[in-house]
Amino acid sequence: MALQMFGIPVSRGVAVGRAVLLSSARLDVAHYFVEPGQEESEVDRLRAARSAVRSELDTLQTELPADAPAEMAAFIDVHKMLLDDPHIGRETAHWIRSRRYNAEWALTAQLDVIARSFDEMEDAYLRERKADVEQVVERLLRALRGTQGLPGGAHADEDLVLVAHDIAPADMMQFKQGVFRGFITDVGGKTSHTAIVARSLDIPAVVGAREASRLIRQDDWVIIDGDNGLLIVDPTPGIVDDYRVRKQESELARQRLQRLRNTPARSLDGQTVELLANIELPEDCAGALQAGAAGVGLFRTEFLFMNRGADRPGEDEQFEAYRRVLQSMGGRPVTIRTIDIGADKPLDGELDYRDGDFTHLNPALGLRAIRYSLSDPAMFRVQLRALLRAAAFGPLRILIPMLAHAREVHQTFEQLNLARNELRSNGVEPGSVEVGAMIEVPGAVLMLPLFLRHFDFISVGTNDLVQYTLAIDRADESVAELYDPLHPAVLQLLAQTLAQAEAARAWKGHAVHVSVCGEMAGDPQLTRLLLGLGLRSFSMHPAQLLSVKQQILRSDCSRLAPLAQAVLAQLEPEDQDRALRALDA
Ligand code: PEP
Ligand code: MG
Repeated sequence: MALQMFGIPVSRGVAVGRAVLLSSARLDVAHYFVEPGQEESEVDRLRAARSAVRSELDTLQTELPADAPAEMAAFIDVHKMLLDDPHIGRETAHWIRSRRYNAEWALTAQLDVIARSFDEMEDAYLRERKADVEQVVERLLRALRGTQGLPGGAHADEDLVLVAHDIAPADMMQFKQGVFRGFITDVGGKTSHTAIVARSLDIPAVVGAREASRLIRQDDWVIIDGDNGLLIVDPTPGIVDDYRVRKQESELARQRLQRLRNTPARSLDGQTVELLANIELPEDCAGALQAGAAGVGLFRTEFLFMNRGADRPGEDEQFEAYRRVLQSMGGRPVTIRTIDIGADKPLDGELDYRDGDFTHLNPALGLRAIRYSLSDPAMFRVQLRALLRAAAFGPLRILIPMLAHAREVHQTFEQLNLARNELRSNGVEPGSVEVGAMIEVPGAVLMLPLFLRHFDFISVGTNDLVQYTLAIDRADESVAELYDPLHPAVLQLLAQTLAQAEAARAWKGHAVHVSVCGEMAGDPQLTRLLLGLGLRSFSMHPAQLLSVKQQILRSDCSRLAPLAQAVLAQLEPEDQDRALRALDA
């Protein structure tokens, strides 16, 4: 009997595949398929790692001081026994032979199977032995690091979907090269950064599925319905067939959308709309151009800093990355955001799970984004210098995340001036840039004139604006129901921003350019509302761009404007629903 579970749909489409369960702690090992015919050499690698660990343990035992407690020797004995246990040796080799997983992946997959059987044990003493298995696996992984892996890159015989308690955005980035056809996590919300990266991969994903990683077993067949947030475990052949048909249909619909790629984004009443791409890495420019983006509206540079331990990218490395983006975009405008590290984007994928421990600080309200940059001005200026150098290669807009205080605005410009002077004193002329502020904190909307005075453009980060307006952690599935981009307070803040930026004409001589780069901009169900509120620049993941364009081509902005004002006036959900429906009529 198929088991059904619901989560939060974050990336559309259907995936049918076998489950690969990975605990969050093990997501950073390499995942690739060894070439057919190379399985035995990979098993040899595993064997070599086991003998290396065995000699390591032997040495440890012989070098034990005479007065060492007896438990120490016993403890090493247990580890040696585990190393020889067929559940580790034979079963891991089985994953390599039957699935062509590389040795590290096979080990962590097997560790998950063993860990689960330990978790189910009644006896507390035995349950705790799980830690010993983990330590032995850690030793094996370390030993494998010292041996050359086989070249990967082969395809799987069957599609695979990844199931984990959580996946940090840094880990998700490692899956960009793609061995998995879908993702499922127990935790997370629709605009958590993990969900955003999953969406950028454009493969089906469901987050916040609570018990998924406990109830789904290694190798189970799973259907991910990324449109409805539905998971079906162990589906009957009839259900699988139905979903395969749906999958083909949605792929056909996507192909049809491709025809709009070169169509200008213009509404029925002739309003031109700018459609920009959100990217995480310079390589993403190819997808942006493929979708017909008019430029990059948000390059989240923090992803350049992830998965590299204490090693930060230096000025030259950053300069190369920014220059690559500008050159790849061939003269189209590129908006590069200074780093937004912190909250649910820690540098090394080590999420702080807090598990009911409320004594921790709240990272979403802590040292993140511009606060993080200003707390380390030397590091901030490395990024600013790299940006000012890259500006020679195309139209560059620098975007500053999460500003809330006048002091932060002034300090940011001070650092920019310092960075310019540092370049000049080294004989480098800084390029000219526009500088923009992200509006992500309600307080910033309430003092918008300050931002409009100092900055060349505004980009509204609705993901955070919703989070901070409604006091809802965007990454917490337990309050995901309350995370509502259509909340009247959020819409008011958005409408005020657009109206005041337009009204700047009167005192600044020109309107201030406003873009929305949060996930709202990429939701085709919200396109008409945003057009009606006056938005003419949308930035989103390339995968969403053509669906939004399709909506624009069918819209008459002059008709939508009064209807959007009517939506703003509604405070009760039923009244708002009615007003929203009128937009689509
Ligand atoms: C946002 O907050 O809407 C945004 C675009 O920034 P991020 O999602 O990276 O926090
Ligand atoms: Mg943000």
